[in-house]
Amino acid sequence: MNNKMKIIVITGAGGILCSTLAEALAKEGHQIALLDLNIEAAQDIADSINKKGGKAIALKVNVLDKESLILAKNKVNEKFGACQVLINGAGGNHPAATTDDLFYDTSSNQKEELKTFFNLDMSGIKFVFDLNFMGTLLPTQVFAEDMVDAKDGNIINISSMNSFQPLTKIPAYSGAKAAISNFTQWLAVYFSKVGIRVNALAPGFFLTEQNRRLLTKEDGSLTDRGETIIKRTPLGKFGNPDDLISTTRWLCEDGSEFITGIVVPIDGGFSAFSGV
Ligand code: NAD
Repeated sequence: MNNKMKIIVITGAGGILCSTLAEALAKEGHQIALLDLNIEAAQDIADSINKKGGKAIALKVNVLDKESLILAKNKVNEKFGACQVLINGAGGNHPAATTDDLFYDTSSNQKEELKTFFNLDMSGIKFVFDLNFMGTLLPTQVFAEDMVDAKDGNIINISSMNSFQPLTKIPAYSGAKAAISNFTQWLAVYFSKVGIRVNALAPGFFLTEQNRRLLTKEDGSLTDRGETIIKRTPLGKFGNPDDLISTTRWLCEDGSEFITGIVVPIDGGFSAFSGV
């Protein structure tokens, strides 16, 4: 795939990480379709891109609803043409799929208010699995059709460093991201004869508005959890959304034509460190 301007579809594009990717890729001249359930957020980013002379559209999409994805694909085709790059960014965790305890101990049984593994809510677990895994698979089913027709294309999934080693408290999110890494390899092989490459990013801890209060105190110093993370991150800092840009460009532009089926950790060394 050469570096000519591309038509790039990004799901979860109203969010922190993917809006950063959308802005950066639009700056290079690519046409960006920003898909998100939160249309206001996606529209704000599209407006900002268009105001700066870029080309972007925002579309309301539920990545778990194939009909809404097909409608979005038709609009992308109409407005820009066939999708050449798909970034599957919609995803996330949910409190209902998160335990309160790091380690189970029998005294937890007495604490009814404590959410342990045993009383995790099935619907919360299903929500997280569906959003992350099915929310990657379904958009791929819809948008990869354009790439198969062109015998050319790039898919970038968003996994997580917890796909290599699960984080405490979030079994569904960790499992779903592991499934995304596995699916990335499966799909890379499956599409290898039709010119479509499939890779994934595995971001580590990024300090965003959503987790800022979990990781830092009002005065900017670290919480206990924040400190534990930094101690386990050899580069000694949180990621910044901009840290994902160069790898994304590399995977969907010139210079990576022989690369498919990889999951790139962008985590300051977190996944490489045993802690000892
Ligand atoms: P975010 O919450 O800021 O963005 C996610 C976006 O997805 C939101 O705009 C949301 O509206 C959208 N979305 C949610 N459900 C949807 C649905 N059903 N259909 C369409 N859109 C939907 O999250 P983020 O931090 O930017 O994360 C982006 C991706 O990166 C996610 O897959 C996340 O799991 C992954 N990730 C994030 C981090 C991090 O530290 N932020 C680390 C590792 C992996």
